[in-house]
Amino acid sequence: MPRWESPLFWRGKPPIYDSAFQFQLGAPGINSYRPAMNTAPFTRSLKAGLALVYPEVCQLCGDKRATPEAGFVCVSCWTQVRFIKPPFCERCGVPVAGEITTNFECANCRDMNLQFCSARSAVTARGVVLEAIHRYKYSRALWFEPFLADLLLRAALPALREEQWDLIVPVPLHHLKEREREFNQAERLAAPLARALALPLNPRLVRRVQPTRTQTLLTKNQRAENVRRAFAQRNGHGLRGERVILVDDVFTTGATTSACARVLRAAGAGEVCVWTVARGL
Ligand SMILES: [Zn+2]
Ligand SMILES: [Zn+2]
Repeated sequence: MPRWESPLFWRGKPPIYDSAFQFQLGAPGINSYRPAMNTAPFTRSLKAGLALVYPEVCQLCGDKRATPEAGFVCVSCWTQVRFIKPPFCERCGVPVAGEITTNFECANCRDMNLQFCSARSAVTARGVVLEAIHRYKYSRALWFEPFLADLLLRAALPALREEQWDLIVPVPLHHLKEREREFNQAERLAAPLARALALPLNPRLVRRVQPTRTQTLLTKNQRAENVRRAFAQRNGHGLRGERVILVDDVFTTGATTSACARVLRAAGAGEVCVWTVARGL
């Protein structure tokens, strides 16, 4: 495996390390999500205290050592992560087998009239990644956040730095769902990307106007229909040709991100690309 895929080869702090940010994540079993604030000195003593109570053990295998900075994921679980490598569909980023040297668009994209110029995901949504994402979203396992954000940054930063982008927009949750979950995972995962690229993050541009049913059991066409009218531009928030990076946690058929990209383009975005942590394959 390439050196950069393993946390063994981190030199110094991992790219998203931020002590105030860590404090928000808390430790396994602690309900400590709260808005960002400058708590660095307090955080250090708190973390030292927590280390006595919560051993630094991997929260996926429950066996090997793992630090809060690594999202409580050990090196052994880390090696099970599969980064998505080319060749892939130019548009949706689905990896394809064999040698492809020309621009290639898959059959799925040709049917779907996708509204983004390209979608890429860092890793495949399987095994340890899928488990971390599910526990992060549905069980408030916020300590996995540095792990998930790190996957996104490792893949997205080199690609995004090749072009000029203006703005990052997370895929919004419906306000009822956000109130229930107490956070929008897309917004939280987009924040370290925005910091690393020194780009503004705007979670208010688009809102989710319909609480869409869960997509898991729906076919591709049903998903597209389900989300077609789910998003709307927020009044008073317009764009003037900005190139937008739309961020979500998981990409499945592209129906959700495409519906969101349609609203961004109608609001005046010049171009919309999509980045997600993981991709269902
Ligand atoms: Zn582990
Ligand atoms: Zn495609």
